[in-house]
Amino acid sequence: MGSALHCAQTMQTLLIDGLWCTPDSETAIDVIDPSHDKTFSTIGRGSAADVDRAVAAARRASLGVWRNTSALERGRLLARAASLILEHADELAAIEARDTGKPLRQARAEIDVTVRYFEFYGGAADKVAGHVIPFLQGHQAIAVREPHGVTAHIIPWNYPAVMFGRSIAPALAAGNAAVLKPAEDACLTVLRIAQLLIDAGLPPGVLNIVTGLGSEAGAALSAHPDIDFITFTGSPQAGTLVQQAAALHHTPCVLELGGKSPQIVFDDADFDAALPAIVNAIVQNAGQTCSAGSRVLIARSRYDEWLARLAATFRELKVGVPEGNHACGPLINRRQWQRVAGLVDAAIGEGVERIATSSIASDAPQAGYFYAPTLLGNVPRTHPIAIEEVFGPVLCALPFDDEDDAVALANATSYGLVTGVWTRDGSRQSRVARQVRSGQVFINCYGAGGGVELPFGGVGKSGYGREKGLAALDEMSVIKTVVQRYE
Ligand code: NAD
Repeated sequence: MGSALHCAQTMQTLLIDGLWCTPDSETAIDVIDPSHDKTFSTIGRGSAADVDRAVAAARRASLGVWRNTSALERGRLLARAASLILEHADELAAIEARDTGKPLRQARAEIDVTVRYFEFYGGAADKVAGHVIPFLQGHQAIAVREPHGVTAHIIPWNYPAVMFGRSIAPALAAGNAAVLKPAEDACLTVLRIAQLLIDAGLPPGVLNIVTGLGSEAGAALSAHPDIDFITFTGSPQAGTLVQQAAALHHTPCVLELGGKSPQIVFDDADFDAALPAIVNAIVQNAGQTCSAGSRVLIARSRYDEWLARLAATFRELKVGVPEGNHACGPLINRRQWQRVAGLVDAAIGEGVERIATSSIASDAPQAGYFYAPTLLGNVPRTHPIAIEEVFGPVLCALPFDDEDDAVALANATSYGLVTGVWTRDGSRQSRVARQVRSGQVFINCYGAGGGVELPFGGVGKSGYGREKGLAALDEMSVIKTVVQRYE
């Protein structure tokens, strides 16, 4: 598995000023294979002092070498990084699959998405243009886009490589120097890809990484006075702490938090097309996807019929080790398994009906954190399982009466990330898309989180600000207005 594992075994998992180093404290965090519940590596537990060093290195790079690197050259560097990541795609997919437990085939596809981020933002780097503003006679007014300076990036464990690309590629393209705190539960591909960026020619200090705990390195980074912008992806609870810390220094943030995304299936839907998309949207990554379609809202007149078809599909699915390329792998850790099982058991105890469960492959290790995808019915609309994020492969089915009821039900949580709408009626497609409270809407399709090109982010408890697409470059830069009087 190359240098990511080597770095991890030597605990040299901090990247500061272009050098891999051990944290101040020499304390280790175990890296656990969730398919086997076995420690197979360690990472360094970075401290506030390590974060200080990383931020100082980023500041030097931001004021020095990186400021003097043209947008064209930044773009070329990201494009070189994309090629190197692609060359190492199989190696990276193997690391990702072991670290997170996800199916190898899925991990490989995610490396392609990571490559796309570097390609997309590499190509966009020299297209971050400002504009000229009509103003008073004898004055020229322009608005230019500048990098923030030093950006902080806190990312989760569910899609480590993809999250790295999504966060870091636009930041560097826009001209920022970055400090990244990856998730303690899975970050080995992040370390390996960072080395590939160095191999592509990234100057020292432009990307710095501090591995460690959220409550330590993460908290220190979000409270740091010399950070100009924060992008955080994770739970609403940690998002609140990050916002509070950032408020101390008025540091702007983008927050990508959780979701309870609905798939609305009207009575005229093409259910043959909807069925695999609905199942995939909750089973992919064992439901550990912020934009997982975790609620299926079905027109009451078709509810029994379509619920039976969903149940039959759930019963066919298998969960197992990454090499088996099953529908999904284990949950990320024991705590997450206990949380998911606890929420489902509590719901069943309160009258929610278990309509169908998938099976765990016979060769799946007993110790692994495997949780069989579960379809729940008879779910009261306000029950916690119907409105709160589970972050596991658990789909709640609820019937609705008419279009107004469907929209009301879709909007009945405090989240608003992604919505799927399944209907053949074009007018209804437009009406519903406009009325749902959601950062993205997919009509007769569902791409959990959407493509690299599509602006992505939430409303309400799902967060604010946008990543992906060209919108990310707006977030990662700031407008400066320059007014010049001329004779
Ligand atoms: P988490 O919030 O515990 O951790 C996410 C990251 O934040 C990790 O790197 C962690 O170390 C760090 N962190 C934790 N506490 C912190 C603190 N006090 N200060 C600074 N950083 C801190 O979340 P998780 O359990 O790793 O991920 C699951 C959650 O993330 C789910 O709610 C899910 O919906 C959400 N998520 C959202 C998106 C999105 O794009 N909207 C993507 C993936 C995950």
